[in-house]
Amino acid sequence: MRKLVKLKKNNALLYSSQITEYIAPEYIYLPVYPKFNLLVKNNETVFKGQIVMENNLNKVLSPISGVFIGSEKKIIDGNVHTCLVIQNDYKEKKKNALRKSTVNLDRDKIISKLYDFYFKGIASTLESRKINNLIINGIDDEPYILNRSYIMQNFYKEILEMTDILRENFNIKNAMIVIKNSDTKNIETYLSNICMYPSIVINLVEDKYLLGNDFFLREEFSLKESDTLVIDAKTILNIYEAVIYNKHTLESFITISGPMVEKGQIVKVKIGTSFDELIQNVFKLKEGKKEFVLNGLMTGKSIDIKNVVISKDTLGLIIVKKGEEKEGKCINCGLCYKICPVKVNAKKVMDTKMISKSCIDCGLCSYICPCNINLRKFLRGEK
Ligand code: SF4
Ligand code: SF4
Repeated sequence: MRKLVKLKKNNALLYSSQITEYIAPEYIYLPVYPKFNLLVKNNETVFKGQIVMENNLNKVLSPISGVFIGSEKKIIDGNVHTCLVIQNDYKEKKKNALRKSTVNLDRDKIISKLYDFYFKGIASTLESRKINNLIINGIDDEPYILNRSYIMQNFYKEILEMTDILRENFNIKNAMIVIKNSDTKNIETYLSNICMYPSIVINLVEDKYLLGNDFFLREEFSLKESDTLVIDAKTILNIYEAVIYNKHTLESFITISGPMVEKGQIVKVKIGTSFDELIQNVFKLKEGKKEFVLNGLMTGKSIDIKNVVISKDTLGLIIVKKGEEKEGKCINCGLCYKICPVKVNAKKVMDTKMISKSCIDCGLCSYICPCNINLRKFLRGEK
């Protein structure tokens, strides 16, 4: 078993336990992918949940009601995309109201719903492989990004119900909810409610970095990839909404935190909202030069928030003081190699500029370096 690392806590990065909703943005930006047919015309009114683009495999739905006003270039998940721009009319017109599904679920119906609502990876795994172990991953990958922990706490009924539905219909021997042993609120919540689900177990793991990653979590329980399915808290909640309520994923939970924010929080947002609009309308930032780190300090990336749009995979934004830590020269201490979970020599990569394919971009080498060298930039070939 690999030796994983306990990270130091930084209180300036913790967030308020309150949640903010920002579900009526002025504009929504939806990326236009190649070979998608556009189904709306300029100045046409669209409804919340209306399909605005499609190809033979996927459909893109509008998260708001509004008017399609044209296109603009934006950055989504690190790539520049031409996006459809929908301006909110704040009417939230819906074609169909959401209703609880009355259909009796079975294996085939669940698989078909998973395909219909774009959980294709999970659908094909359940369809093609015999799954013996189902892990519901309630551990956030990144320190100070707390979306999974929040969702576990606030949607425990939905998470337990959906886990049990999958366990029963796919005849899964071991179904487990995994929580960090430091997450006392969730431990209490799940211990109080698990009695309704005698076939699901709660497993606690140490508060160590990388245990939120599916690969390391499987390794922690010595489970094989071939018969194990790991589903994170946000995805199991979205699956519940799709399977039980026929609801598409149009909203997401993200964490906004850091020493340059007055009050860091978890925010419920519409997918397609721009960070710029969200920050301006919801958060008060402190005076001084700021650096915006997308998706967390360990694996995230510094960005200019102006053109960045929130996608379904966005975890959050950590706002720190710009240039706070000066980079020094390497002192050959060897710590970057010692800490690497996959035994890549980050210093060698920095010296030779030869990128290693084994690097999983976990950020531990940059975290441990006493000279504050941003080794990840070398590992990603950015320096
Ligand atoms: S970022 Fe890459 S080289 Fe650095 S510790 Fe992680 S896996 Fe190893
Ligand atoms: S941890 Fe930093 S200082 Fe130490 S060997 Fe690696 S790059 Fe050099």
